[in-house]
Amino acid sequence: MKKVIITGAGLGGLIAAANLAKNGYNVTIFEQKQRDELGYDWRDTLVKDVFARSGVPKPSELQFEPHVKVCYRNPKKTMKLVTLEEPSELVVNIDRQFLAEHLVSYAEMCGVRIKFGTKVVSAIVENNKVKGVATEDEEFFCDLVVDACGMHSAVRDSLPDNCGIVKTTEKTDTLYTYRAYYERLSDEMSDPPFHFYFYHNRRKGIDWVITDNKYIDILVGSFSPLSQQDIDEAVEDFRKEFPYMGEKLVRGGQTATIPLGRTFPVIVYDGYAAVGDSAVMIEPLSGSGMTQSMLGGKILADTVVEIGMDELTKENLWKYQYRYFKEIAEKNLPDDVIKGFLSDATPDDVDYLMESHILTEKEFSGGSDIKLTVSEILKKLKALLKRPMLLIKIAKLGINMLKIKKACELMPENYDEGAIEVWKEKYLAI
Ligand SMILES: Cc1cc2nc3c(=O)[nH]c(=O)nc-3n(C[C@H](O)[C@H](O)[C@H](O)COP(=O)(O)OP(=O)(O)OC[C@H]3O[C@@H](n4cnc5c(N)ncnc54)[C@H](O)[C@@H]3O)c2cc1C
Repeated sequence: MKKVIITGAGLGGLIAAANLAKNGYNVTIFEQKQRDELGYDWRDTLVKDVFARSGVPKPSELQFEPHVKVCYRNPKKTMKLVTLEEPSELVVNIDRQFLAEHLVSYAEMCGVRIKFGTKVVSAIVENNKVKGVATEDEEFFCDLVVDACGMHSAVRDSLPDNCGIVKTTEKTDTLYTYRAYYERLSDEMSDPPFHFYFYHNRRKGIDWVITDNKYIDILVGSFSPLSQQDIDEAVEDFRKEFPYMGEKLVRGGQTATIPLGRTFPVIVYDGYAAVGDSAVMIEPLSGSGMTQSMLGGKILADTVVEIGMDELTKENLWKYQYRYFKEIAEKNLPDDVIKGFLSDATPDDVDYLMESHILTEKEFSGGSDIKLTVSEILKKLKALLKRPMLLIKIAKLGINMLKIKKACELMPENYDEGAIEVWKEKYLAI
């Protein structure tokens, strides 16, 4: 029976663990936190059918709350662009602590052993192969290490530099967040309930305020490290706009980081595979990674089962990486190019794009499927001609959309070091 060690009881790790244990694998998870510390003290959004697709039981409908319409705001707050269509019923909010416990119980039921309060400090690498992991006190050996340690993975970072694994890229930004639920002082609701701010207070980043039935849910997100002053200024400004947001913290009130950007181009090595945030399996614009991490965990488990008695080499594990890219990561790449554009854009650029109707409700509603009439395109072009520098940035965005599609076609289906190097270079150059 093959032995698998999973580092981190995050979503991707737990899904991979449960599906491998169901297929007879000997699976142990090392998690640095205690069981009751897992998850976050708030609710987040995922796609409801992810449970069926990742082979775990769906929680009761009572655990889900519907997603709501979103109003997009520019840095000057002169515009309110509300999405046109009703939110999909498939997109729901779920309590992160509940979700963590739901997946932990299921993994244990499938036979996974979880060692809580055990921090992994590094991978054990011998003869260019990952053989196991080291904690502060002991070494543990196995046939495969699944790195599900999240964005700041000590396991990934301990791998030798020549292993081909990409540990960090300039294409991946960090979103530094503060998330909190404040008390509601009245029954007043914002319309729509979800307000999403670009460059709030002219700080490069994204913020939100959601008026929930019970509380006011806020996120302050910055592309550079958040200071207490940034948080205080954002909260104060939200209180002015939503006077029914009280002082009392009801849940959360903590800072955390999220990766923003594209999935790392190489996520497997001999005896090693990364899943979830440690491989940057996220939606590049929002940093949402729950659905992607869970699906990544399932694809990894399915691939390992398919590999069967053969060795878990990088050549064999490449099938996992290829499937993840073809089924999930590639669809998110246009958003990653938009993220690159937004990181380059100034608050004035964003104000101009929204105030001069280059970005309208239609763009925020339709995603990449949006269809514009000729007259709409001409109006936008006319407005852009008044800002040549912005026009150049938008032209670059269009070219990069085409380039990233072409780069993906270069990803080899089978492991081939030379072809991977070519693909990696093109993928990261855009
Ligand atoms: C404020 C905020 C809001 C978010 N909102 C959303 C949202 O609405 N929708 C969405 O889809 N996503 C959202 N996300 C992102 C989402 O939380 C992540 O993408 C997802 O949790 C990634 O899962 P993962 O499998 O990589 O594991 P993680 O959740 O990152 O968990 C990793 C686990 O590994 C453990 N670990 C780390 N290092 C070690 C070590 N050395 N040894 C042992 N254990 C270790 C950690 O303790 C942790 O339990 C949000 C994140 C934040 C911070």
